[in-house]
Amino acid sequence: MRDLARLPKAHLHLHFTGSMRPATLTELAAGHRMRLPAALTEGDPLQAPHDERGWFRFQRLYDAARACVRSEADMRRIVAEAAADDAAEGSGRLEIQVDPTSYAPFVGGITPALELVLDEARTASARTGVEVAVVVAASRTRHPLDARTLARLAARYAGDGPGDVVGFGLSNDERRGDTEDFAPAFRIAAGAGLALVPHGGELLGPDHVRSVVEHLHPDRLGHGVRTAEDPRVLAELVERGVAFEVCPASNVSLGVYAEHGHVPLRTLAEAGATVALGADDPLLFRSRLVAQYETARRVHGFDDDALAELARGSVRASRAADATKQRLLAGIDAWLAAPA
Ligand SMILES: [Zn+2]
Repeated sequence: MRDLARLPKAHLHLHFTGSMRPATLTELAAGHRMRLPAALTEGDPLQAPHDERGWFRFQRLYDAARACVRSEADMRRIVAEAAADDAAEGSGRLEIQVDPTSYAPFVGGITPALELVLDEARTASARTGVEVAVVVAASRTRHPLDARTLARLAARYAGDGPGDVVGFGLSNDERRGDTEDFAPAFRIAAGAGLALVPHGGELLGPDHVRSVVEHLHPDRLGHGVRTAEDPRVLAELVERGVAFEVCPASNVSLGVYAEHGHVPLRTLAEAGATVALGADDPLLFRSRLVAQYETARRVHGFDDDALAELARGSVRASRAADATKQRLLAGIDAWLAAPA
């Protein structure tokens, strides 16, 4: 069996706080004399019911983790470790999502908060060989004007290389906020050439996906898995070339699906969708990038050809420069050509 950690791939769905190693969170909490909820230190993956209570539980834990990130050093450490962990998992390209708003108070505003993430992304890229680029993500729980401010900030640092902003996202509970209200922010991001990568079709179904597509014109959907419930909507997204950032461990942890076998990975792949597997929040789901590919192999029966195709999808859906894409795609071919 070929080693999935050696399969070159791109990692397109990973949140800044959620990328943290559990041991790092414990150290940051101790350093700042913060108490962590037991669920964050016990080592089991979160298992929440698929309802508002479950999401609230997830959000509460996430907020508790985020509250421990209180300095430039903390922020740099998170980026550096995310890059190192991705490197160990065969990722050649990481597009990490960050909402600088939460950390702004500790470093002098949202601009320095983003700038130091970008600076560390550049340093980490040089050190690890993983190109680390950044997706600036707004939150559905805040005012759409805040999203516009973030989009304008993101636009100033637009590019495709390490330490550049490559995309603009929208995260948090899909049931909150009006999708339409975030359209102006996405227009600003589109004008700057950023990839549009809102979450959608995770907690809500195909109707919500339609609304996200209509108003935000995504290049990639964060999750998007519930699109599979309506073959017409799925066909439409495939036709438009919208890629799916699928995070199986996250879906099961948050109760979107009761078990791994229910994640519609095969349905998406067989419909011709471009799929990029991602870990979302390994801190809470206790499952990193390679584990998502292992699930595709073990649970969904993907053979090495199909796994290589998933990896190619992740590379193609990334915002890496063509030369980087060619290098990673050649690496995938080489992985497949080597004896199993
Ligand atoms: Zn996410």
